[in-house]
Amino acid sequence: MKIFISADMEGISGVVNLSHVEPGHREYERFRKLMTKEINTVVEAAIESGATEIVVNDSHNNMDNILIEELHPGAILISGSPKPFSMMQGIDETFDGVFLIGYHAKAGTEAIMDHTYTGKVFYTKVNGKTLSESGLNGRFAGCFNVPVVLITGDQNTIKCAKEELNDFVGVVVKEACGRYSAKIYPFEVSKERIKKGVKEALENIKKFKPTVEKEPVELEICFIKSIFAEMSLLIPGVERKDARTVIYRASTYMQAYKVFRACITLASSVE
Ligand SMILES: [Zn+2]
Repeated sequence: MKIFISADMEGISGVVNLSHVEPGHREYERFRKLMTKEINTVVEAAIESGATEIVVNDSHNNMDNILIEELHPGAILISGSPKPFSMMQGIDETFDGVFLIGYHAKAGTEAIMDHTYTGKVFYTKVNGKTLSESGLNGRFAGCFNVPVVLITGDQNTIKCAKEELNDFVGVVVKEACGRYSAKIYPFEVSKERIKKGVKEALENIKKFKPTVEKEPVELEICFIKSIFAEMSLLIPGVERKDARTVIYRASTYMQAYKVFRACITLASSVE
């Protein structure tokens, strides 16, 4: 049984503010250690439940947060950035399931550090539905016929994702009070919850269905500033809906995802 893990950081147990997730900030070194520990909990539990191959894609910021010297030997790590498929780099049709670990809710949600890929995005819609990173990445896995079987994060991350994806096991590791505060469970409590969630996901892995988006796909991205939308117009086929919003009509979800990634990358080139 082959498992792909996309590991973000905002939804890791204990993480509540920017100093925890941005390299160079006070406390970042401490929280990347906790992130590695949480990934190890997931890997260990997955092996206990029959996983034979586990690929972990570091999916936060510079994507080199996980400490290789402390990583469980049962996992292979994809580290570093940029990578074209970003949070989903490394997924293919040989995997049996995807875990989205340490995920957060979409921009505009009352949840820990809500955003969608970048703070420059106000919302992203696919065929008229606003999606979080879980929804966007879950559909990318769907292109390879692989289901998302487990997501961890705060309560609203799980709630968002339940509205966007086919059924999966959701593990709440903290309860957001706002963007930068949460009721935190002690690490050992989160660890037990995660272990239970992994076990449940893998025991039932055959029951989960990939989320496959209906094609053709209309992608709509609303940015927080007009300049970000303007840069997206460099991509052939991208049209402007209004000053801050662009639209792209793709024949496949894969194509829409690639254009989404390109728009975000272009937006990142300007302030
Ligand atoms: Zn992140």
